[in-house]
Amino acid sequence: MARPVEVAPGVFHLPLGILGQVSNGYIWISDEGPVVIDAGPPGAGTTIIDALTALDYRSQDVVALLVTHGDFDHVGGLAALKQACDAPVVAAEGEVALIEGRVPHQTRLRQPSAVGRVLGLLAGAAIRVIGAPDPVTVDVVLTPVSDTSPGGLRPIPTPGHTAGHTSYLALQAGILFAGDALRNQGGLSTPPRMATEDMAEARRSIKQLAMLSFGVACFGHGSPITQNADEKIRRLAETLPG
Ligand SMILES: [Zn+2]
Repeated sequence: MARPVEVAPGVFHLPLGILGQVSNGYIWISDEGPVVIDAGPPGAGTTIIDALTALDYRSQDVVALLVTHGDFDHVGGLAALKQACDAPVVAAEGEVALIEGRVPHQTRLRQPSAVGRVLGLLAGAAIRVIGAPDPVTVDVVLTPVSDTSPGGLRPIPTPGHTAGHTSYLALQAGILFAGDALRNQGGLSTPPRMATEDMAEARRSIKQLAMLSFGVACFGHGSPITQNADEKIRRLAETLPG
């Protein structure tokens, strides 16, 4: 892979595509070394390792593999990455069963609404074509009171899209890795209703994020915001009910 785009100092954006869908991963160069945030769909592990190489890092330099949530388009490359990097996999309690393969990905994709069920079937078909993510042991299980993760980022519980969804804040640098707590496709918005477990909770999480201070925000889907990101999220939060 060519050198990935540096969207803010030390933040590299990795658009990891599958079947026309893009799910973003990121490399953040922390004081401790490179941290990978989310690992894209199955097959993305080698792309991320190639990106590290393009940045003149060895995979063994990686200090942490942070997971925002266990959806298949965010943990697909995790097993290959862990094997290459030998770095701890970090995720919240609520996501562990999915990541460790004790709950099938198809279950998470089966949503209560009719549209959600159709989407679930399509996603299930995609998994049959590309394969489900290989299970990975979570080494550092975050709880709601965890205030730091390997790599020095602060985990922010942002449930809603999934029960254990977690965002990560690089406090000093002012960078938020929001995962699917929000998306920035055709404008900043909530995660899609049909793929979200609890919309009211998702809105509360956005309001929580809106209370924090950061200049840059990176999303699982859509372009990063590189200036005044907190202000933009605050403006969205003010429009949300609840
Ligand atoms: Zn996603």
